[in-house]
Amino acid sequence: MSKVLIIGAGGVSNVVVQKCCQVPDVFEDIVLASRTLSKCDQIAASLNRPITTAQVDADDPDQVAALIRKHKPDLVINVALPYQDLPIMDACLETGVDYLDTANYEPIDVAKFEYSWQWAYQDRYKTKGIMALLGSGFDPGVTNVFCAYAQKHLFDEIHTIDIVDCNAGDHGHPFATNFNPEINIREITQKGKYWEAGKWIEIEPMSISKDIDYPEVGPKRSYLLYHEELESLVKFVKGLKRIRFWMTFGEAYINHLQVLQNVGMTSIEPVEYEGHKIVPLQFLKAVLPDPGSLGVNYKGKTSIGCIFEGVKDGQPKKQMIYNVCDHAACFKEVKAQAVSYTTGVPAMIGAKMLLTGQWQGKGVFNMEQFDPDPFMEALNQYGLPWKIIDLP
Ligand code: NDP
Repeated sequence: MSKVLIIGAGGVSNVVVQKCCQVPDVFEDIVLASRTLSKCDQIAASLNRPITTAQVDADDPDQVAALIRKHKPDLVINVALPYQDLPIMDACLETGVDYLDTANYEPIDVAKFEYSWQWAYQDRYKTKGIMALLGSGFDPGVTNVFCAYAQKHLFDEIHTIDIVDCNAGDHGHPFATNFNPEINIREITQKGKYWEAGKWIEIEPMSISKDIDYPEVGPKRSYLLYHEELESLVKFVKGLKRIRFWMTFGEAYINHLQVLQNVGMTSIEPVEYEGHKIVPLQFLKAVLPDPGSLGVNYKGKTSIGCIFEGVKDGQPKKQMIYNVCDHAACFKEVKAQAVSYTTGVPAMIGAKMLLTGQWQGKGVFNMEQFDPDPFMEALNQYGLPWKIIDLP
C-alpha cells in the first residue's frame, strides 16, 4: 500500500491518475498537484474514488519539497513538462523520496533531448539511497523495455534496432499535436540524428523518410528523427551496430509545420511584442487545440514498436515487438486519446514496479536496465497488449 504524488494535470496526467485508481491495492493514496489547481480538481471530479489535490509551481524546488513534506508520498510521478524535471528531482533528493518521469529534462532556451543533466544526479541519488526511473512513457519507456526483452529472450546479439512510431488516427482538426505542442514541435524541428558504427550521424530536420509497413495499419511515410531513448539504448544494448527512430506524419501536418516554421512561429527565441517578450512557440501552443481535448472524435489507431535484426543460435533473424492502440477505445475507457493513453499507462506500470519492489535500485536508471518480464506482463494486464512477429 503506497502513496503517490502526481505532478502535472494535462492529457498524460489524466490517464496516470485514472490508471492508478484502477489499482487500489498498490496506489492507496493519490495526491494530484499542478500549476492550475482547477485542472487537478477537474480530473478528481471524474474519478470514482477520492484523491487529494493541491497547487504547486514545480519550477520551484522549495514548493515541491514543501508539498512532499506535507503529504509524505512514497514516490513522485512527474507528468508536468520536461522543464520541471530538475526542480522536481532536486526536491526528491532533498526529501529522500523516489522519482519517476516520462520525458528527459529540457532547458527552456535550447532543444537538446538528452539525458546528461539527469544522469548527473546518479551519485547523489545513490548516496541518498533513493531511485529515479527516467522515461517511463511509451517512447521512451515501453520501447526501451521491448529492447531489453529482445535482448533477454529473442536474440543472442542485436545488430540493428529501428523504433517505429505510427499514429494513423484522425482527430478532425486541420492541425494539432498529440501531446504538449511546445515539446512536440521542438522535437520535430530540431536536427535528426541516428547512431551507426559507434558514432552519431546528424541530418537536416525531416530530410530522411521512407514507407514503413505498420502492423494493423499498413504502409505509412515515416521520418527519421532523433529521440531520447536512442541515447540510453546505445549504452545498454550490447553489440549494437545501428539504431534509428522513425515517426509518421501526414502531408497536412508537414505542410502546416513548414508554414509555421517559415514564418517564425516555431522559434524558441523570445521576440519583443508591444513591450512584452514572448516566445513564438509558447504563443502558438496557446492557440492550438489542447491535446487533452482531442479524444472526443479521434478515430483510428497507433502502432508503435521496435524492429530488431540480429542473431540467435547462430542464425540471422528479424523480429518486431509492437503494440496497437485504438483512440476511440481509449476515450471510452479514460476519456483520453491513444497518445496520452500509451504514455500514461506505462507511467503507472513503472510506478507499480518501483512501489512493489519488482524494480529496485539506488541511483538514476533508464527503463532497459531492469528485468523486462514483469513490466511486459503488466502491459498485457493494463491495456497495452503487445505481439511479436517474424519479419522476412
Ligand atoms: P500537457 O501540456 O497536457 O500537461 C502538462 C501539465 O504540466 C499541465 O497540467 C501544466 O499545467 C503542468 N505544468 C506545466 N508547468 C508547470 C509548473 N511549473 N508547475 C506545475 N505544473 C506545471 O502535457 P502532456 O500531458 O501532453 O505531457 C506531459 C509529459 O509527458 C510531457 O513531459 C511530455 O513530454 C511527456 N510525454 C511523454 C511521452 C512518452 O512516450 N514518453 C509521450 C507524450 C508525452 P497548466 O495546466 O497550468 O499549464
